[in-house]
This record gives sequence, structure tokens and C-alpha cells, in this order.
Amino acid sequence: MTSIAANLQAVRARIFAACSAAARAPESVSLLAVSKTWPASAVSEAALSQQRMFGENYVQEAVAKITTLATSGAQTLEWHFIGPLQNNKTKLVAENFAWVHSIDNLKTAQRLAQQRPAGLAALNVCIQVNVSNEATKGGVSPATTMNLAREINALPNLNLRGLMTIPAATSDLAIQRRQFSILRELKENLNRDGLNLDTLSMGMSHDLEAAILEGATIVRVGTAIFGERH
Ligand SMILES: *Cc1c(COP(=O)(O)O)cnc(C)c1O
Repeated sequence: MTSIAANLQAVRARIFAACSAAARAPESVSLLAVSKTWPASAVSEAALSQQRMFGENYVQEAVAKITTLATSGAQTLEWHFIGPLQNNKTKLVAENFAWVHSIDNLKTAQRLAQQRPAGLAALNVCIQVNVSNEATKGGVSPATTMNLAREINALPNLNLRGLMTIPAATSDLAIQRRQFSILRELKENLNRDGLNLDTLSMGMSHDLEAAILEGATIVRVGTAIFGERH
């Protein structure tokens, strides 16, 4: 077994165990393999182990990989954009991805809505929320999320699915859980106020267990699958 196959098996076992601990169905959590900085061959290797969802942060790098893999014709992969998105790159994202997790302003959402090709299904989007209040982190504040969610919900060609966060890094499980619980409660509040969100994109290599305990539906895992990035 290659190391990517073995790593995937180990990550799936962690997800399964965390779902058991949380009394959740294992199918309620999807694994997004974050392949940023890794070549198309690494994605192909993961695809051979039945991995279908891949996450990317850099538009040009991602589109090159998506194009390579589409023409090599293997299985249908689902691409998720999870990085900071500049307005001059929205068109490529609208044309090449199934999901965007990192929306943090209306202008970007408007451009994606306008640029989504007519032949494609609505682009699934999540609003990125800054739950740890760090100035360096992307995302909107919990207090302004409702307003942005309503505005995005009104746009054509986008399907507002939920919320995403990258909390402050800590190895303390209680603090990890507290940060993820902010996103869970925010989603519950938005749904109580009339939205229909089904997605919590949270949890990475070092904290996916805490995220699953707090209701994550997509965990975004890079290092634990592909190794340390250089
Ligand atoms: C890189 C990245 C990940 C993956 O992080 P790992 O610690 O390598 O698992 C997840 N989410 C986002 C937004 C990222 O940029």
C-alpha cells in the first residue's frame, strides 16, 4: 500500500471513531482531501483509494491540476476552493469548482454568481467565519454573518450551504471544541431565522475529532493524508 492509501485509511478510521464517540452516523461527515502544493499524481493516487472530494487554495495551481486530471479521464472528482479569493480570480473559480468554502464578502459572491457558467449546477458556497477573533484570520465576524447570509441567499447560481472556519491553532481539546461550537450555534441560529444550511466545514489534520464532536459535516484534511507541505 502506498503511504497516501495508508494515510487515507488512517484518517477514515479517525473520522469513524470520532463519529462513534459523538453518536453520529459515519456518512454524516465527508472527507475533503486538501491537495494544495501536491502534484496531480498525488491526487490520482488518492483517487485510486476512492477519495473523490479535493480542496485547493491557489487558483492557478488548482486549475492546472483540474485540467490535467480531467483529460486523463479517470473518475469524476469534486473540487472545492478553500483559500482566500481575489476578485480577479473569481471567473476561473466559477468555471472550475463545485464548491467555494471561503466567501467573506458580498462582492466576491456577486461575481461568482454572475460568472457561473449556465451549463453548470449552482455553485455551492459557505461563508467563512472568524470564530477566534484573530486579526490575521480571514472570515466575517459571527455578528455580521446573518446579513451576509441573507444577501448571498438571494443571489442566482449560488447555493448557500453553510459555514466554514479556521480557528486559532491549539492542542487543547476543550478550546478546540469551544471554538467549533461557535460555528455550530451560529448555523443553528441562522436556520432558526429562516435559512436552510446543512454544512459545517470545520476540522483539519490536528483537530478533526473536536470538529466532529461539534457537528462538522466536512473535515478538510491535508497533512495527515499527503504529508508535511514544504
Ligand atoms: C491547508 C488547509 C487545510 C488543511 O490543513 P492540514 O493541517 O494540512 O490538514 C484545511 N483548510 C484550509 C482552509 C487550508 O488552507
